Amino acid sequence: MTNMSTPATPANAAAKAPPAGPRKIPAPRTLPESQPFWDAADAGRLLLKVCLDCHAPHYYPRDICPHCQSDRTEWRDASGLGTIYSFSTMGKGEAAWTLAYIRLDEGVTMMSNLVDCDPREVEIGQRVKVVFKPSDGGYAVPMFTPA
Ligand SMILES: [Zn+2]
Repeated sequence: MTNMSTPATPANAAAKAPPAGPRKIPAPRTLPESQPFWDAADAGRLLLKVCLDCHAPHYYPRDICPHCQSDRTEWRDASGLGTIYSFSTMGKGEAAWTLAYIRLDEGVTMMSNLVDCDPREVEIGQRVKVVFKPSDGGYAVPMFTPA
């Protein structure tokens, strides 16, 4: 027998769903080579890896420099300042969140979120600064807000 019940329409499906509420930030998945990055984020510091051979910074953090394959890299504090390269708002209402690529002043690009601002009032090229947001049971996550 086929199920004769009426398929849920989007309207009554939404009525049955619990309210979405503010978006929870998922706990970041970490790798051993990025552990210092997350420990620093919990302490409110943004770290970048810099190569001691070609002197270029990179992100995300790796043991081997992606520019010259050197294994001589070290952690350095980043300014936490940058500009919006691109952004896009997902979801609706208070569950909405804004994904963004941020070009840090050090020259690397981070994928993160824009927070504590109305995404309708931000624009590409705008100056931003890092803020650290607690995740759901994990490390604080670096995100960005207008500077
Ligand atoms: Zn290098």
